[in-house]
Amino acid sequence: MPNAYFTIEKPVNDPFRSYLHGSAERASLKQELRRQEEQVVDIPLIIGGKEVWTDTKIEVTMPHNHQHVIARCCMAGEQELKAAVDAALAAKQDWEEMPWEHRSAIFLKAADCITGSYRDVLNASTMLGQSKTVFQSEIDIAELTDFLRFGVWAAQQIFKDQPLSTAGIWNRQDYRPLDGFVCAISPFNFTSIGGNLPTAPAIVGNVSLWKPSRTAVLSNYYYMKLLQWCGLPDGVINFVPCSGPDMSRYVISHPKMAGFHFTGSTDVFQRVWKQVGEHIAQYANYPRLVGETGGKDFIFAHPSADVEPLVAGLIRGSFEFQGQKCSACSRAFIPVSLWPQVRQRLEQQTAALKVGDVQEFDSFMGAVIDQASFETCKGYLERAKASSDCEIVTGGDCDGSKGWFVQPTILLCKTPYYESMVEEIFGPILSVYVYEDEKLEETLEICDKASPYALTGGIFAQDRQAIVNMERALRHAAGNFYINDKCTGAVVGQQPFGGARASGTNDKAGTWLNMVRWLSAHTVKETFNPSSAITYPYMAEK
Ligand code: NAD
Repeated sequence: MPNAYFTIEKPVNDPFRSYLHGSAERASLKQELRRQEEQVVDIPLIIGGKEVWTDTKIEVTMPHNHQHVIARCCMAGEQELKAAVDAALAAKQDWEEMPWEHRSAIFLKAADCITGSYRDVLNASTMLGQSKTVFQSEIDIAELTDFLRFGVWAAQQIFKDQPLSTAGIWNRQDYRPLDGFVCAISPFNFTSIGGNLPTAPAIVGNVSLWKPSRTAVLSNYYYMKLLQWCGLPDGVINFVPCSGPDMSRYVISHPKMAGFHFTGSTDVFQRVWKQVGEHIAQYANYPRLVGETGGKDFIFAHPSADVEPLVAGLIRGSFEFQGQKCSACSRAFIPVSLWPQVRQRLEQQTAALKVGDVQEFDSFMGAVIDQASFETCKGYLERAKASSDCEIVTGGDCDGSKGWFVQPTILLCKTPYYESMVEEIFGPILSVYVYEDEKLEETLEICDKASPYALTGGIFAQDRQAIVNMERALRHAAGNFYINDKCTGAVVGQQPFGGARASGTNDKAGTWLNMVRWLSAHTVKETFNPSSAITYPYMAEK
């Protein structure tokens, strides 16, 4: 519980560095990139605060240069995962009883380190390990800082909410952490999400096992080291890279798993949900399941849309970080009256984007994350080339010889139900459906219903009544909705992020809506002068 004397102010977002040519911050980051590029980091598991080395190891390579190894990472098996559960449960009592201000100080200190001297370390490892350009990495790491500061603040807001007390009675709500441990499983695409999944529950007193993605393990390891340096007690977060199936077998079925904090694909989340259902009678508590999953995010243009910002929104929204943001635009609905102008600009500007090594700061895009992702994109491109339902407007090529490079591609689809219009691809492929201007309403309905996802979406229009109608028609089609803006780039504290339908449980990371899922309230009523009466006054006959 927070001490009333130590409350903190609402944070502001961490400012982005600009890394302009000739700046000191650019020189410093380049130096750190060179340092990390030239070494191979050996990554252990961290269980109960101790490094644990195993014989099963994976190599971590740079997606834009896939023969270049930058780390070797130990993988946990049955023995280590069971030890990690024991370590988490052993740390639980001291952690949940640590005064709130001391617990919070660890995370606020980590945020300050990331704003300061540790930023280059996290940025360089994110750029090299996940193939992010400097700007994409910078916004990722700034978001990690925001998650820490806004997380602490959100917890405070929850704790402050107390029930009504009446004369002679004091009612208290004790916001306990969950009675067990949290299992956190994170995706490759954001270092900030990796960090937040175990940290958000920890801020409110939970202990956890954290399974990072094998393709984001270097940056995630550096974050774990930072938390330890900032004083995170042993066992509060246990860093256990391992295979998904091992995590399922030894951790998710454990009777003391009280919470599951996941970001990744819809398929994996649904599998875990089923597994939890099958084991439901064995758990000590009903596990809280929080999952932010896939998307098929859209931009829908009205005939009144302003073409230049529409095109910019389509290109940035679809191709930044190679389309590997859960929020990335991957389908667009364009009225036929605007299509010739839009098409011409899309072709010209997409063809001018540089795809290459992220250490060359003029690259707009790097490589997709791994061979599996490369093959998925290639499959969609080959089928599109062979299909009579599809035309390639621009791009369409890929080259995996050095790095997993996929050219930014725009497909023109004759039907809004073509596979690339409805399935999540998670690569730099934008599918466009051109609709007759007078078929606006039915096309809005298709946009709403054709895909099972509902994560992000944007509309472009100048006509205000059209904006009202489109917002109403697409109210349930996106958890994050944009008007005259691209559908990516949500900022913690400004556009709380998450989607519904097949896109997740929509618990809005970085806000009290998420934090509250890691708490189990305990209500205490204290009566100062308890009554000794048994009968009630109305029972007297005279
Ligand atoms: P993924 O589902 O392949 O992997 C996510 C994590 O789950 C990884 O750590 C992986 O090792 C683990 N995993 C895989 N199989 C498992 C199993 N059987 N049991 C337990 N864990 C298992 O996702 P990814 O490729 O890392 O990330 C991309 C996906 O994440 C996309 O679908 C994207 O839309 C989604 N995503 C969603 C959001 C959001 O906020 N909605 C944010 C980022 C990413």
